[in-house]
Amino acid sequence: MTERLYYKDSFLHEFEARVVAVSAATGAVAVILDRSAFCPTSGGQVFDTGWLEVGDAQSSARVRVKDVAEDEQTGDVLHLVEGDVKPLQPGSLVRGTIDGERRLDHIQQHSGQHVLSAAFEKLYGFATVSFHMGEESCTIDLATDAISAKQLEAADKMANKIIAEDRPVEIRFATPDEARTLGVRKIPLAEREKLRLIDVRDFDLNACGGTHVRSTGQIGSILLRKTEKVKQGVRVEFVCGLRAVRTARRDFETLTEAASVFSTHIWEVQQQVRKSLDEIKAAQKAQHRLLEEVAELQAQQLLQSAEDRGGNKLVVQFFPDRDLGFIKMLAQKLTKSGNAVALLGCGGSQASLVFAQTQGLANDMGALMKQTVQRLSTRGGGNRDMAQGGAPDSASAEQALQQAASVIVVSG
Ligand SMILES: [Zn+2]
Repeated sequence: MTERLYYKDSFLHEFEARVVAVSAATGAVAVILDRSAFCPTSGGQVFDTGWLEVGDAQSSARVRVKDVAEDEQTGDVLHLVEGDVKPLQPGSLVRGTIDGERRLDHIQQHSGQHVLSAAFEKLYGFATVSFHMGEESCTIDLATDAISAKQLEAADKMANKIIAEDRPVEIRFATPDEARTLGVRKIPLAEREKLRLIDVRDFDLNACGGTHVRSTGQIGSILLRKTEKVKQGVRVEFVCGLRAVRTARRDFETLTEAASVFSTHIWEVQQQVRKSLDEIKAAQKAQHRLLEEVAELQAQQLLQSAEDRGGNKLVVQFFPDRDLGFIKMLAQKLTKSGNAVALLGCGGSQASLVFAQTQGLANDMGALMKQTVQRLSTRGGGNRDMAQGGAPDSASAEQALQQAASVIVVSG
């Protein structure tokens, strides 16, 4: 079983070890060492990356550690490497170096999670049922049906206060029985001789195998993000430390850009967006009213000049600059009274067709539209009296209108 150096010191970035085995069994080449500071993916934390180096000042070779996993049966740490592994022979001495920036990020997220989970538990009795560390942000799932904005704010405040107090964070080892009497927050189900405990002084004691800060001040800060309902409770997204700074910076830039669009202060963006949306809605309403009036007038004109066969009218008209909404409105107005058939087309943003007739006339507009769109290789349909469909372009829409007009029965 690999001796895990990070169990005692999360800030150990360089170490020496001996190669125990090199195997290609899992697809990638896995190197097992007698001891390692590399932390594998487990318990919500993601793996370290870094380098393994062999040789001396005269001749040395190194391979990249791109992933680190845990062999659950043997307890070995598997360093998955890329590059020439020939120099890594069992028995040879290696120097390991982990990527410090990545490790610090993991430490900040993971310790931040312990503090945040403890805050939710202390304040509201919400137990953390799972923890996930992602590339961008982290999440915990809390065993509760709902969280209010007030509760989020209170947990955020408590967690950040614990960070500001810079409380010592110590690593302790205890048997499961000892852990129970110590009041450990969550004791893992797996039977182990010794549990590793992370002790945030006078605030939280939890069993964990991950890498952690020496004192809460190193977490920097916790920034709570969105919440979402999930199967096992409520998921809370958060970022800690330098990630929180990066995230806040990005939020600020986004807000600043939005504020400059509205020529306002970032704190006024919300009101400005609401105001703009209200204005857009009002303008749309006014536009709709005007279009109704235009359609009404146009319907009267078109009916006056339409072909009249025994009291029935046939209107065939193409509108290059109108859109589907308008020709539908117009079709309704043309066919609502009297006996009329309207075959309308538009260019607009998307060439479209509308076929309509006054209820009770002898044509089947749905069937006619189906034939038309089949010829045009587009989509459309409707019922006996009203149908709509698409056209590839204005020219083919106009042509389709003439074709449809030739089969219309108006004198029925
Ligand atoms: Zn943990």
